[in-house]
Order: sequence, then C-alpha cells, then structure tokens
Amino acid sequence: MGLVQGVCGSCGKKIRRISPVPIAMTCDCYKICPICGSMMEPYVPDLDPKTYRNEDDPSWDPLDHAEKGEPLTIVAFVCRLHSPPFFSNRQPVEVQLE
Ligand SMILES: [Zn+2]
Ligand SMILES: [Zn+2]
Repeated sequence: MGLVQGVCGSCGKKIRRISPVPIAMTCDCYKICPICGSMMEPYVPDLDPKTYRNEDDPSWDPLDHAEKGEPLTIVAFVCRLHSPPFFSNRQPVEVQLE
C-alpha cells in the first residue's frame, strides 16, 4: 500500500491518500466561503445564472470554466451569513495525487 500526495492548485492544501496507484481527487475548498471561511451550502439556481452576477466582485467568473461543447452543469454554493447572501460558482478543483 503506497502513499500518494498532491497539492491543490486552488487553495494550496496538501492532500494525502493511501493508494497503490496515482489517483485524482477533488479538493473541497470550493465549498468554503472566501469571505468568512464557513462551509457554504449547495444552492440550485432556479433563474438564469446571470441574475446572480455580482459586478463588484472580480472573483465572480461565471461559466468561464466550462469547455466549449460540454454540457453546462453549474455547481453553486451559497453562504447565508452575509447580507445579501454570498453566491459562489466555484468549481471543484481536481488534484492529481501521485
Ligand atoms: Zn483546495
Ligand atoms: Zn461567508
């Protein structure tokens, strides 16, 4: 049984897992509110995502992660500790462990 490890390109956290072969796993930092550090809750938009675009927030980067021609799935999270609530469309970051 070998130990594989990798560093998340988004949050810099080192992830270790026990695996005999290199694996890819998802870092859960995309669920962390960038403002207060709390776990955000999943949010399913029922309106056009552009409705939530916050022009004042430069980190708001809707849909730019999607590859052309790929079906668009929006994983959204919301932190309700703020007023108005903070909406995030950060995508899960895959970390290659080897
Ligand atoms: Zn991360
Ligand atoms: Zn928050």
